Amino acid sequence: MELQERLKEVWSKIDAAERDAGRPARSVQLVAVSKTFDADTIRLAIEAGQRTFGENRVQESQGKWPELKAETPGIELHLIGPLQSNKAAEAVALFDVIETIDREKIARAIAEEMKRQGKVLRLYVQVNTGLEPQKAGIAPSDTADFVNFCRGELGLTIEGLMCIPPADENPGPHFALLAKLAEKCGVKKLSMGMSGDYEIAIAFGATSVRVGSAIFGAR
Ligand SMILES: *Cc1c(COP(=O)(O)O)cnc(C)c1O
Repeated sequence: MELQERLKEVWSKIDAAERDAGRPARSVQLVAVSKTFDADTIRLAIEAGQRTFGENRVQESQGKWPELKAETPGIELHLIGPLQSNKAAEAVALFDVIETIDREKIARAIAEEMKRQGKVLRLYVQVNTGLEPQKAGIAPSDTADFVNFCRGELGLTIEGLMCIPPADENPGPHFALLAKLAEKCGVKKLSMGMSGDYEIAIAFGATSVRVGSAIFGAR
């Protein structure tokens, strides 16, 4: 199958999962994860109509997205990988959404950069729902306090929560936990679900899914 056919298949599976869950059509946003793929490959997805993309490295993104964004108005770029505070300026300049706010230092750096650049990004807090030591994200039990800190102390608008469930576990309970935490924190958006489980995530209330290999192929 060609990239554009795979993309259309993902769109139609999202439509079907929305229907099955009794959710409105087009209520779930597809973030096409283009990490490791070059600008020409990404252009095929843009030509097919995809406008929202995710990348997990600031430096890699700087090599392809300024040009792609200049070519096509309406591109929305999400940072979905871990962020170092020494990359905050570049991240704020290039991205529209940062999904990986997970500690005070990063939240402060992003708040300062947004002020300095006069740019407001949409932000998500990453939650380590499986409490995996190697994985980024705030602990579920600290999430509400951290969201309140970001809002109260730093004046940030936290739009949603994001999680990456442990690879070897049933993702359902992790998606359910993220939805419960979002309700507790009063945030409306849930970024959850990847190529292997985005239809399940939609059943649990995902408002955006981050799908890479099912669209672009194996990395
Ligand atoms: C790579 C990546 C994805 C996409 O994974 P696929 O399994 O290729 O769909 C989603 N979310 C994050 C945070 C990623 O790093």
